[in-house]
Amino acid sequence: MKPDVLMTTGIPSKEQIDSATPPGSRRKQGPFVVIECFQEIPCDPCYHSCRFGAIKPFESLNDIPQVDWEKCTGCGVCVAACPGLAIFVVDETFSDTECLIAMPYEFSPLPGKGDPVHLLDRSGDKVGEGVVHRVVPGRKPQGTPVVWVRAPRELSLNVRNLLPSAGKGGNNCV
Ligand code: SF4
Ligand code: SF4
Repeated sequence: MKPDVLMTTGIPSKEQIDSATPPGSRRKQGPFVVIECFQEIPCDPCYHSCRFGAIKPFESLNDIPQVDWEKCTGCGVCVAACPGLAIFVVDETFSDTECLIAMPYEFSPLPGKGDPVHLLDRSGDKVGEGVVHRVVPGRKPQGTPVVWVRAPRELSLNVRNLLPSAGKGGNNCV
């Protein structure tokens, strides 16, 4: 039996990532949510956070979230609501060369708009350089800060973390 890559490495398989990504026609229409939550766990704040009904109703608390991308506006509210840091928003229509990626960020201090950042993939490896576009501070006790970065467009589905590159950022949880 094929080993579960997610269970052994903590990194989702290509099939899992594909299942969380909308079709190309939807990706051309504007920002979309990517929910990289692939294990049945008792958790549903994502569903309750979306006022657009883009996260389909759960039949059981252990359900894996399912998205209706036609209803998703890419607002990013669910990114802040997810305790598993498993939700991202990607906008491949930002410019001809750059995309926007919204990522949860739990370190302190938060980077600021215009700050340069290293872009990391799901393994934590540096794959490129980006710039902070917007920071949405989290609302305590549950909301996680969300950092929107400008990234090379070809990295839109690879970048899932960031590291401030100008001496900012630390190891303490916000
Ligand atoms: S990004 Fe906004 S609209 Fe899309 S699923 Fe999340 S909360 Fe709903
Ligand atoms: S809130 Fe996050 S961890 Fe919980 S079910 Fe939704 S995506 Fe998964």
